[in-house]
Amino acid sequence: MNIIHIIERVSDEILKNKEYLSDLDRAIGDSDHGVNLSRGFQKIREESGTFAGLTYSEIANKMAMILISNVGGASGAIYGTGLMKVAQSLKGVNELNRREVKNAFEAMIEGIKLRGKAVAGEKTMLDTLEPVNKVFEEFSELPTSEFLNKIEEAAKNGMNSTKDILATKGRASYLGERSIGHIDPGATSSYIIIKTISEVLREV
Ligand code: ADP
Ligand code: MG
Repeated sequence: MNIIHIIERVSDEILKNKEYLSDLDRAIGDSDHGVNLSRGFQKIREESGTFAGLTYSEIANKMAMILISNVGGASGAIYGTGLMKVAQSLKGVNELNRREVKNAFEAMIEGIKLRGKAVAGEKTMLDTLEPVNKVFEEFSELPTSEFLNKIEEAAKNGMNSTKDILATKGRASYLGERSIGHIDPGATSSYIIIKTISEVLREV
């Protein structure tokens, strides 16, 4: 598994969806989620060449710093904190297996919760990520392709579930009842990231 290739594909996919993510944010926020994340992932794309030879932990840490200092907006700090926790979890890990990835994913969610003080059900990226975490817990014995299908399906359903949720965290919460009926932009960027990683892993 080539981690740099995965990172580059994820970055390209975020850049491709820049307008779409900002459009989603236009409905319940301030229209900048795609612009914010693209700023960070553009920088990651530019620097990914320098990741060669680094450990997984060091790469996660670099990405965290890039997102925190370039994204602006709540999502940069939140994804960045998540990745800092991933970096901690992957310290000393030289080969990624499903167990290490599960631990890293759990750590990421922990970081996101720590930074944003949100839980699933509040119309944020956690509504995409928590169901994926459940798949890691419940289906870790499945063969890879079925496992990836489950992961992707959970992320998609999680993202779509945000449509009917009343936002209680972040900018969308200012809208109260009017936040209902729109899919959350951060839940969508998380879905795009997970879907892209699954796609690349299926190609291997
Ligand atoms: P901003 O809200 O500062 O403009 P973005 O538009 O880049 O930042 O990101 C908005 C997304 O961030 C939301 O759609 C939501 O998914 C996520 N988000 C906002 N607040 C929180 C929070 N407290 N915890 C987790 N995710 C959050
Ligand atoms: Mg915004």
